[in-house]
Amino acid sequence: MTRNSHPTTHRPDRSSPHLGRRGFLTALGTAAATFATGVPAHATEHARDAASAAEYVDVQLLSITDLHGYLQAAPGPHATISGNGGLTYTVGGVAPMAAHLARLRAGRANSFFFTPGDAFSGWEFDAAAFADEPTIEALNRMGLDFATAGNHEFDKSPAFLRRHMEQAVTFPVEGRDTTFADSSGARFQGARFRFHSANVVRAGDPGRTVLPAYNIETVRTAAGQELRIGFIHLTALGTESFPGSYQPGLATLAETATADRYAAELKARGVGAIILSMHDGAVAGADFNSGTDPSGPALDLALRVSPDIDAIVTGHWHTRFNMMLPDPDGVPRPFVEAGCYGQLINEINLRLDPATGKVVRELTVSTNHPNTRDVAPDPALKEVVDYWAGQAAARDATRIGTQSGSFLRTRNAAGESTMGDLAADWALWAGSRPSDPENDANAHPNVPAQLALVATAPRVGVTVIAGDLVRDAESGGAVTFGRAWRAVGFGDPIVSATVTGQQIHDALEQQWTTAAGGELLFAPLAVSGNVRYTFDALRPAGDRVDPAEVFIDGVALDPARSYRLACPSYTFLANDGYAALSEGRSPYRHQRDFESFVAYVRESGTLTPAPLNRVTAAHTTRRGADTGATPDRAPLLHPDGTPMARPEAAALAAAPAHPTPDGPRPPC
Ligand SMILES: [Zn+2]
Repeated sequence: MTRNSHPTTHRPDRSSPHLGRRGFLTALGTAAATFATGVPAHATEHARDAASAAEYVDVQLLSITDLHGYLQAAPGPHATISGNGGLTYTVGGVAPMAAHLARLRAGRANSFFFTPGDAFSGWEFDAAAFADEPTIEALNRMGLDFATAGNHEFDKSPAFLRRHMEQAVTFPVEGRDTTFADSSGARFQGARFRFHSANVVRAGDPGRTVLPAYNIETVRTAAGQELRIGFIHLTALGTESFPGSYQPGLATLAETATADRYAAELKARGVGAIILSMHDGAVAGADFNSGTDPSGPALDLALRVSPDIDAIVTGHWHTRFNMMLPDPDGVPRPFVEAGCYGQLINEINLRLDPATGKVVRELTVSTNHPNTRDVAPDPALKEVVDYWAGQAAARDATRIGTQSGSFLRTRNAAGESTMGDLAADWALWAGSRPSDPENDANAHPNVPAQLALVATAPRVGVTVIAGDLVRDAESGGAVTFGRAWRAVGFGDPIVSATVTGQQIHDALEQQWTTAAGGELLFAPLAVSGNVRYTFDALRPAGDRVDPAEVFIDGVALDPARSYRLACPSYTFLANDGYAALSEGRSPYRHQRDFESFVAYVRESGTLTPAPLNRVTAAHTTRRGADTGATPDRAPLLHPDGTPMARPEAAALAAAPAHPTPDGPRPPC
């Protein structure tokens, strides 16, 4: 038993268990009108501890959100949270989580465990290095019943999600890319739960969802009668154009309208209780067990969405709050988000009326439980965590190639570096790969790339290059899996798209800008090995590159012609500030960077640094010449100084693809 693991107990009021609607609304008073706050969230004073009233069917909903594969506690400030009125807790890890779940579930006949999304996708090496299969194994062992697909569940593809994560189909190579032996020694079995989304559809076919829109669970009354609970699932709007889950063949439908539509459908099917599990969220203060001044897309939805929905469980924003919000009829319902990385377990206790199957809303209680580490870890989950940590250490050290020299990010005056050139060569290779059955959500044909550009030091956002690849003489220049994985990648795919010669020229010009103080700034783009170009260090920003001085496979750039260009999706989305490239047409998504760079090293065999001769700065010795300054931007850190996970940093630092109103943004 841990501190504060139970909702604040309210004295049972056995004199009036059945409140009329009128008395109920009066009881809420003005608190509802200004968004009820407090610890924890009780619908009314009459919402009591769930184990009592025999006249109802008790249903327990347990959920976690945005686990992101953190089988062990996340580092830095993510491991400390505050709530329950200013208390702080050290949290995280699936082994303590399983122990907390066992305690919460004890004696509960009707308990469901689910997640509003981002359960997996490669933030923690131990899980990411094994195609996120360790996360599925952990969730299987914790008894996850069902899941909402978050944006990150689409970081590879719908085929990967359904065919691999659910059905355990191998692709492409067993034991190398997917389908590893799990902690019991068995081949990857796939999830024992299903992913859902009511609003992710194929582009151009809004009537057909990629995943089931909802699931219906049943519980029984004391008399043996079945009552049904519907769970509607939503994925963050715009998921198809986030850099990681960039899927040109998908679209997301409006959240509120979709939830309303399925709430009506479930009601028409006679489902009495309806829960919304949504991978979009809000911010509502710093205390994980209350809510103050909420804002964000989930709030907008919560205030308007069908009153037939009895609770709204959110995610995606990595925030922590727990509150009751009035539905459009003024009746409160839980509105919660349970942080990220296994910090919290949300528990909602519903009471169903056995006669109608409806939720007796005034008796709903919701609590966020901190996943504290002061419990004995669940032995089965601890075994899973330890097994994958050991596997990850071994994989990290596995030799996948050789390097004959070091690749460094150090740039010459023309902005060129051996590491930048390597990344650009990889991007061209990646953008020229044959179609992969894993990438089943493309809308355009796979036309191979003719050249690649990689931002090595963008003005905004971050670069896909994460570090140097220094030759290790002792190992004879071995490139290990871990070193390759850490050198390149921030979780986004390489995309090939059709651009004009003019747009390539304009992007090259956009490397230079003039700062407010007049200083010339240089945000270099590395070019693939088949490109040579010259810029004029004497000329002003915006007029430094002559198309006649840009050569692709030895032929001068033709501004009127079309070219097939490979870049990270991040660059095509202008997240790193080269606006000219956001005009690319017929995009085709290739493999994600981490896996793709590892595959490139494997296929290359030996990596050899090439001379820095792709970019020439002309007139550098003349008076007034200026190649421009490239400010060194420190990696993004958390307030306590720990480095941010690269996908998180990339998302936070990105220039928005489209202008968005000021205000908080979800971290991923
Ligand atoms: Zn998300």
